[in-house]
Amino acid sequence: MLIYIVEDEANIRELESYALEKNGFEVQCFENSGDFYDSIKVRTPDLILLDVMLPGDDGLTVLKKLRDDPAAAKIPVMIISAKTTELDRVKGLDLGADDYMCKPFSVMEMISRVKARLRGVQNNKDEKISFENITMSEDTRTVTAGGAPVELTYKEYELLKMFLANPKIVLRRDDILDRIWGHDSSGRTLDVHIRTLRAKLGEYGRYIITVRNVGYKLDKDE
Ligand code: CA
Repeated sequence: MLIYIVEDEANIRELESYALEKNGFEVQCFENSGDFYDSIKVRTPDLILLDVMLPGDDGLTVLKKLRDDPAAAKIPVMIISAKTTELDRVKGLDLGADDYMCKPFSVMEMISRVKARLRGVQNNKDEKISFENITMSEDTRTVTAGGAPVELTYKEYELLKMFLANPKIVLRRDDILDRIWGHDSSGRTLDVHIRTLRAKLGEYGRYIITVRNVGYKLDKDE
């Protein structure tokens, strides 16, 4: 398993790479985003540890570029940052980070979170899920509705995935928010994403049914 570390502070970089190598991972380190961009085109890592405050492109910009690139959108990204406010965390997760750790961090915890992420990746491989005419391929991270491709943002994709994994089950608003956006996110965020997701699914958007005062469910008929 190959892990890329993007971190400008040598001490932290060494701490992270030493611990990961001790645990049997192959590690490649980058002091800035430029070298990282070059390498990721050559070899895809299984996971990326990403600092936020970096020279050149900062970590959030790097993350956004990764998520916008179909070839890299699926790679798990764990942010390790000195920016520790709730807002920083939410911003990172909102852009599609899989995990967020604050500096200073426990190396043991970092290793166990990395392992947990990689287990998740392996379990999800080659998964195709569908409901009626909506189909999602986890392998290529693509969605079709009635056979036509649907372009989704990272969060819209995660939201649809939660529905497809729980068809005909009422999902509570709080549970959806918690799962997709983490704590402290507003209900409006969810409403906006539901609206755009329905619109993008076209005639199949109607399968996302509002359950008044509770949440939403994916179902065929009201
Ligand atoms: Ca830094």
